[in-house]
Amino acid sequence: MKRREFIKGAAATVATGAVTACATPTDTPANLENNTASESTLYDVIVVGAGFAGLTASRDLSRNGHNVLMLDARGRIGGRTFTTQFADHQTDMGGTWFGSGQPSVWAEKMRYDLEVEESAAAASEEIIWFENGNPVNGSPDDYWGMMVPAYDQFYAPSRAQYPHPFDPLKVADTDQLDQKSAGEVIDSLDLNPLQKELFHAFACINGHSNSYNSSYLDQLRWVALGGHDKWVMWDNLSRFKLKGGTKVLADKMQADNRATTKLGSAAVKVSQSNGTVTVTTNREEQFKAKQVVMAVPLNTCKDIEFSPALSPVKTSAFNEGHTGSGTKIYAKVKGKFPKFFGNGTQDMPLCFLWTEYDSADEADQVLCGFGASPDLLDINNPIAVEAAVKQYLPEAEVLETFGYDWNLDPWSKGTWCMYPKGMLTSALAELQRPEGNIQFANADIADGWRGFIDGAIESGAQVAQAVHTKLGVTTA
Ligand SMILES: Cc1cc2nc3c(=O)[nH]c(=O)nc-3n(C[C@H](O)[C@H](O)[C@H](O)COP(=O)(O)OP(=O)(O)OC[C@H]3O[C@@H](n4cnc5c(N)ncnc54)[C@H](O)[C@@H]3O)c2cc1C
Repeated sequence: MKRREFIKGAAATVATGAVTACATPTDTPANLENNTASESTLYDVIVVGAGFAGLTASRDLSRNGHNVLMLDARGRIGGRTFTTQFADHQTDMGGTWFGSGQPSVWAEKMRYDLEVEESAAAASEEIIWFENGNPVNGSPDDYWGMMVPAYDQFYAPSRAQYPHPFDPLKVADTDQLDQKSAGEVIDSLDLNPLQKELFHAFACINGHSNSYNSSYLDQLRWVALGGHDKWVMWDNLSRFKLKGGTKVLADKMQADNRATTKLGSAAVKVSQSNGTVTVTTNREEQFKAKQVVMAVPLNTCKDIEFSPALSPVKTSAFNEGHTGSGTKIYAKVKGKFPKFFGNGTQDMPLCFLWTEYDSADEADQVLCGFGASPDLLDINNPIAVEAAVKQYLPEAEVLETFGYDWNLDPWSKGTWCMYPKGMLTSALAELQRPEGNIQFANADIADGWRGFIDGAIESGAQVAQAVHTKLGVTTA
């Protein structure tokens, strides 16, 4: 889809028969826009990016007494998360679920005393999977009886490779697992064709792209971070979400943030000389600071000019980017169905689909689904989304659909981060390394839950502490 079509889809509510699609209401919290940013001030720190990494870094640094300017290209905070009303629920179009095995985000949940709720599919009554293109409805026991061997074989090297899961480079990759794709490894496992096909879909969702695109070594990390336990991994990935959505946490953090916040200003150039870093924006403003924290996604770094140029390893990783490039949709369907979890195949428009909310009278459900690529499903076309849903639930009447294409958004250029082959061992350490007075913080370069809200907070907090130490202690 071209950018023009994205904007059209994002701005419009399209009614076609009984099916409605709408996307992208950006709720800009009223207390955010602060135009007191000053071009004549030498800030202690400029944080570029107001996703969870940038929010964490700005909050921690400003509360430590540093004079901080936080910039974001978008007209809202939250980055690759945003919450909006859909089908009577506060739904998250980007990052959503998290778990108690994710220490940084869970600590924020406890700090602000936030409530969680569970995805309905965490208590699925039925599993739908696909054999020879046809849906099969079975019990969770039937499904897991078939799939546990696939999980156990795929994740077998996890403990040896990641004895310290939050230190992903502790053990050298002597078996060259980073040189293999998840898809190649699945093909080599001792499984039947159906098990392989269904597990390819799972690996596809993990990398949010075809399973052959992402590194096997990087995919192993998720189970390692769940204590090498597939059930804990699943809980961390998909059980809990914040009541009211991720916006509740972002707003709490922003309310605690003493930084000057400037939205709608994109960094186009970051240059450093004589101990000062200058950030030039697309509004032709120039802001100066002693330290700059780049809290922007890996996939958008290539659009920013750095002077002097960054290292060749960083530049090449920016150009290659992460693999997350798939789709996420919600659909409200009418009809009585068991709460279900569906595992399709990675060439289907939606390779996973499940019940996210079940209505009290069981007359309708809100489903959530993921697909490998916008090439397989135009999420702004309600007829296409309805057809994709009906592959799982042929009897369902689709009332409304909703999606946001993060791939076409110039400030994300993709979804969540999984690395392609070779990037973890060749580039992660370098991507984290500061260059002069420029530091890097974002979910896409975290040590632990890289690619998650947790990783964003981890990375923002770690860099804030490093910058605080570098600047010296200031009284709040
Ligand atoms: C569809 C989808 C589903 C996901 N599901 C989950 C999930 O269930 N659980 C989970 O934990 N994670 C999930 N994630 C991942 C998670 O949302 C991200 O990893 C995390 O929010 C990233 O935070 P960040 O601060 O590192 O980056 P971002 O949130 O991307 O923040 C970066 C900020 O930088 C800004 N920016 C970009 N370029 C510039 C520029 N040149 N100048 C100024 N500002 C700029 C952007 O506007 C943005 O606000 C999902 C992501 C997507 C897209």
